[in-house]
Amino acid sequence: MDILDNYLKLNPRSKSLYERACRSLPSGCTRNVLYTSPFPIYMARGEKSRLYDVDGNERIDFNFNNTTLILGHNHPKVLKAAREQLERGTVLGAPTEPEVALAEEILRRLGAERLRFTPSGTEANIQAIRLARSYMGREKIAKCEGAYHGSWDAVDISVAPPLDKAGPRKAPVAVPQNEGVPKGVLGNTVVIPFNDSEATEKIIMKHRDELAAVILEPVQRDMPPKPGFLKVLREVTERYGILLIFDEVISFRLSPGGAQKFYGVKPDITTLGKIIGGGFPVGAYASTEEVMKPLMIPGSEFPVVKQARLGFSGTFNAHPITMAAGIAAMKELKTKVYVEMDKTAEAMREGITSLLEGRKMGYQVSGVGSFFHIEWTKEEVVDYRSAATEDRKMSRRFSTDLMNRGVFMWGHPNVSAVTTSEDVKIALEAIGRSLDSIAP
Ligand code: PMP
Repeated sequence: MDILDNYLKLNPRSKSLYERACRSLPSGCTRNVLYTSPFPIYMARGEKSRLYDVDGNERIDFNFNNTTLILGHNHPKVLKAAREQLERGTVLGAPTEPEVALAEEILRRLGAERLRFTPSGTEANIQAIRLARSYMGREKIAKCEGAYHGSWDAVDISVAPPLDKAGPRKAPVAVPQNEGVPKGVLGNTVVIPFNDSEATEKIIMKHRDELAAVILEPVQRDMPPKPGFLKVLREVTERYGILLIFDEVISFRLSPGGAQKFYGVKPDITTLGKIIGGGFPVGAYASTEEVMKPLMIPGSEFPVVKQARLGFSGTFNAHPITMAAGIAAMKELKTKVYVEMDKTAEAMREGITSLLEGRKMGYQVSGVGSFFHIEWTKEEVVDYRSAATEDRKMSRRFSTDLMNRGVFMWGHPNVSAVTTSEDVKIALEAIGRSLDSIAP
């Protein structure tokens, strides 16, 4: 049966929910990344590595809310911690102990000194860049072409620029990603090519007296850094006194101390999200006591009436339920869990590679740690320009066909601590059958 016909047959309730949603939400969605044609699947519940939709279909989850649920759905210890905290009230309008404990645990893992919580990764990046600007007294930032750091002005630039507008590969032009990004903002964001040490160094040198910070994902989307790339960036930013920000909203799941420990390169500021909140909305940014100085409220006498140089607030920052769930999740995340996840993801990477071998099409199988990914390109994917050559129709057809076959695999496919070898076996069988039908 055709992919689309099958999809329509399997998902009638999702279809009618989507039609209803379109009457209240633009394109029926609240998160563009979840939109998929002809309509998204509406989920009813999750359990360990499985998702169950409103039509009763069961699927193996390899998305885990875009890498958030590193312990899978409904981990009993995380649920227990959240429930116990919930019994004490939803949100208390005052600091709580769990907030201190989670900050201590994250700082210990990063080897950092001070941290602030936000309700999302986006806000962590907003605040980290404000902090960098405040600390440095400069306005410009540099970001990588193709990198996503949240839907907000300063970084909503060259996230997925059309190639005919993006300028030379080694000197990318800053292209607004969306309408509504003001021209003034555009002039303050410099774009650098991920994984090209030489070109990046040149661009940073050119703007060395204006840059407050360089922000990047140490693993950009599914592209690991080339050997030496992160070290060159560290060395160049240090040489010119520019702050280096690692956006570890996703990559923090690479090791107990994130990608920075995995690759042995320490940034000045780290931003976080996803896994640190145990499945609840969260973000954080961490640095040294020195860099965090603009956030300090001056004076120790009573009463203190002075303001910090850099104000910071948010009604739901460090939400107690998130904090309690985050602590419970972090406690489970011992080194051996990461080793096991790497093995599970490696089984997916190897299995997919052998299923693809000999097929007459362009593909790359990539991924590190708990990530695995298929890119439908002829050339190796090392930066935005190579990723942009992907056959996107093939990618969509494949993920929709897998959806029909009980495998929920899109975005940054990843395994969790509860993904079993049985899950891997079933998924690889489904992938094999899908490839036979759409890419023989
Ligand atoms: N940075 C990166 C690297 C991300 O992938 C994301 C979201 N996927 C964000 C920041 C934004 O985080 P949030 O969606 O929690 O606002």
